[in-house]
Amino acid sequence: MTGLFPAGAWPWMAGLGGLILGSFLNTLALGLAGGASPWRARSACPACGHRLAWFELVPLVSHAFLGGRCRYCRARLSLLYPLGEALTALTALACFWRFGPTLEAWIALAFCLVLLVCALVDIKSMLVPDSLALPALALALIFSPWLPGPGFWPALAGAMFIGGGMWGVALLFRSWRGLEGLGLGDVKLGALMGAFLGPVGGGLALGLGAAAGLVFYLALLAAGRVAWRSRLPFAPFLALGGAAMCLAGDWLGPLLLGVWP
Ligand SMILES: [Zn+2]
Repeated sequence: MTGLFPAGAWPWMAGLGGLILGSFLNTLALGLAGGASPWRARSACPACGHRLAWFELVPLVSHAFLGGRCRYCRARLSLLYPLGEALTALTALACFWRFGPTLEAWIALAFCLVLLVCALVDIKSMLVPDSLALPALALALIFSPWLPGPGFWPALAGAMFIGGGMWGVALLFRSWRGLEGLGLGDVKLGALMGAFLGPVGGGLALGLGAAAGLVFYLALLAAGRVAWRSRLPFAPFLALGGAAMCLAGDWLGPLLLGVWP
């Protein structure tokens, strides 16, 4: 596959492909979030039901061109669409930038895109889709002996350690405060990150995600945008930590472990 483009062109071609793929992933996320029929939802305005023309479905460009509004009823279209498209493109670019045109790049891309779709669904519906997280977890474990990555036993240990630890925290929260602090969907996503990154990488990804989530929550709290103890989707922060460790774990891991006393 290296011969398809010059090696330096791969990240940019991947980014362009990611823009188009992002449009499809939005549709998938919308369907998993339990909206209307996903194909219809993407191809028609959710407010007035007007069918969108092909040029209104061009990733990013259409949103900017139409000012983020439906051309017919002027209803505001969700910012999640251009966000999903831009993040998919950025993810594809980053994976091929980091790993070159290799099998590793494709596998990292698959992992990061599963995280991205789970994050988008969580933002839309406050749920992490089992139908995506669980098969991804199973695939990561089954193929771990042959994939570049931690190998089978570290993958299994990572899934059990991260998933089990988060599950324990979720149960503790519930029995102690009657709080739904951590959803079971977050636990499954944590297990997936553990399986893909191993116990150490997965733990660091979880720590990074939790820290990012906490900072974001405190910032919203300080700005008066959320109430104390209101729930935020956690999957976007987990996804951020997972993607960071997947793409930059080789220097981020030692850095974080070095800072740890
Ligand atoms: Zn409309």
